[in-house]
Amino acid sequence: MDISVVIPSFNEEESLPELFSWIKKVMDENDFSYEVILVDDGSTDKSWEVLLKERQANNCLKGIRFNRNNGKSAALHVAFAKAEGDVVITMDADLQDSPEEIPALYNMIVQEGYDLVSGWKKKRYDPISKTIPTKLYNYVSRKLSGIKLHDMNCGLKAYKLDVVKNIRVYGEMHRYIPLIAKWAGYTNIGEKVVMHQARKYGHTKFGYERFIRGPLDLLSIIFMSKYKKRPMHFFGSWGIVSFLIGFFSAAWVIGEKIYYIYVKSTTPDRDVVDQPLFYLSLVALVIGVQLFLAGFLGEMVALNNPKRDDYVVKEEIG
Ligand code: UDP
Ligand code: MG
Repeated sequence: MDISVVIPSFNEEESLPELFSWIKKVMDENDFSYEVILVDDGSTDKSWEVLLKERQANNCLKGIRFNRNNGKSAALHVAFAKAEGDVVITMDADLQDSPEEIPALYNMIVQEGYDLVSGWKKKRYDPISKTIPTKLYNYVSRKLSGIKLHDMNCGLKAYKLDVVKNIRVYGEMHRYIPLIAKWAGYTNIGEKVVMHQARKYGHTKFGYERFIRGPLDLLSIIFMSKYKKRPMHFFGSWGIVSFLIGFFSAAWVIGEKIYYIYVKSTTPDRDVVDQPLFYLSLVALVIGVQLFLAGFLGEMVALNNPKRDDYVVKEEIG
């Protein structure tokens, strides 16, 4: 099979018939063999009935239905496990992404050899409350990840099958799939300018909570990619730094006191407990020990994690 089109969908019943027939038209024109995997992410409208009805006329349509709303990442995750096409295309269900882009994306993967191609909504039809934060988010993600993409979170993307089978998308990490892919070793990441349209039906499913969850997920990804297999290296090194700062400043405070009493035979101007440095050293010592403990606990958790050695095996023989 050439292409799996993966569509996460949450309450998009009005868009689905149009979307399905548009995809079918593009696929037929280009002679692609394909499947469409719609993930109904706990819709409370008639999405699933719409799918069942459309499926009678087109058995390339497949569906996975969640019993509750699990989020876009979870939807992608289950569809990725099911996908069989050589190239997997993800797109939103709301008709904002155009199926006309599919052939070009397919060619970039198959002929130009990209692992992942991300769409870039260069001209975007969304409210300003989306476009401005997105610019900032993309800028930060570019700086932190070193991946030169203008539109990391674009719903329209194409992947080699191998890529989707070997990455784990959870939480709300669908925003950072190129990063996850890069750290899994799929570094050939491309970008294609894609058409974008204003939402025709319904309304956006992502509200202001994305401003908090987005950055937190980015931190988790960066931390996990570097230290999930060796948490002690992260916590332990900062623990040592903090502990040493605390230790030497405490030693300084105590040493000064002893020096005054025994060498100069006077009492210093200030008591130990009157000095800010004394409290700072205590805090630094405590933080240092805490970080160490976090490191040990992290190691114990990682030890029991069966995925600790989940390296992507490129080939196997025998
Ligand atoms: N979506 C989903 N589960 C959710 C939220 C969104 O499957 O919990 C789907 C939604 O139906 C759409 C896609 O993810 O197909 C993108 O969502 P939306 O268009 O609301 O995001 P925006 O384009 O406003 O960023
Ligand atoms: Mg949308």
